[in-house]
Amino acid sequence: MQKLPVPLLKSWFVNSRRDLPWRKNPTPYAVWISEVMLQQTQVAVVIAYFERWMLRFPTVMDLAQASLEEVVKLWEGLGYYSRARSLHRGAQYLLQHHGGNLPSTPGELEKIPGLGPYTVGAILSFAFRKKAAAVDGNVVRVLTRFAAMEEDVASSKAKKWIWDYAQSILPEEEPWLVVEGLIELGATVCTRQPKCFACPLSANCLGLKKGISDLLPMKSKKVPITNLTRQVAVVKSGEFYLLRKGKKGKLMADLYEFPYLEGEDRSLVHDLLANTFKLSAAFIEELPTVQHSFTRYRATLYPSLWEASKRHEVEGYEWIRASDLDQLPFSAGHRKIINSLKSHHAHITY
Ligand code: SF4
Repeated sequence: MQKLPVPLLKSWFVNSRRDLPWRKNPTPYAVWISEVMLQQTQVAVVIAYFERWMLRFPTVMDLAQASLEEVVKLWEGLGYYSRARSLHRGAQYLLQHHGGNLPSTPGELEKIPGLGPYTVGAILSFAFRKKAAAVDGNVVRVLTRFAAMEEDVASSKAKKWIWDYAQSILPEEEPWLVVEGLIELGATVCTRQPKCFACPLSANCLGLKKGISDLLPMKSKKVPITNLTRQVAVVKSGEFYLLRKGKKGKLMADLYEFPYLEGEDRSLVHDLLANTFKLSAAFIEELPTVQHSFTRYRATLYPSLWEASKRHEVEGYEWIRASDLDQLPFSAGHRKIINSLKSHHAHITY
């Protein structure tokens, strides 16, 4: 394995690291929350969420005792909501089994709901200062390029190679600086288009020497993006809106959404309201189209506003007062619809 110049990486990190709120006091809880938030989400977005979260849920116990709805609401806009649900479940598990503290061994950490090998490694390294590797996409990028490793990184052989490599380079002294330094280097210098001129590893980097850095890491085919077209029925009755809460186990579980159906044809909405919901509703207007991407989907939402003459009960749905909409968690796409409603209908108190 290509020998990594650890002292250079360490001193680069100490001098160049970004000032991030979770680095000020890296308690096990703060590391856990920040690392879960950072999965699939950019640092700049996470900062405000992290600060708000730590104010509202400063301890494991605060999180465990909150309602799931409140937890999801605080997560609103971060996407990949299963992470919020896992944190909530994880906090309840910690309260029940560890008195509200995070344990400090890999075996015990792995039992916490939602914790994968990367988060376990990050907690052991950053919070408990143990000699433990933590491999995320940044580390994969740096190490495969540095060693010019051309195997498909999705293969189990490559995964093992990367973890073994990441562990093997850790020094006895301050190993956490190397773990965090690799992640920082991947996030800021060894990015998709590597800035090798600014890299402390450039003199020894095989990927750079062979001119193949920007081709690495080698990846098998990506999961294709699926386009969705949805008709969204924004049905009001006076100050109330008809909403459904996502079902458990589904992608948007615990989030509120307006009724919708898949398809290009707007007349489908009329059929849904009249024949399925048995509502007498008059069409008011079309609302601005909304684009919304989540996981591997790209959705185009066509919302239309309707007024129902009565608030009939509709199975699986509830009528919610307009002034309560801001308190409830919505998917990003449906939140955009609410925002456009607010700007179009300023006379209603939201
Ligand atoms: S020299 Fe370039 S390719 Fe190599 S680790 Fe540094 S930034 Fe990445």
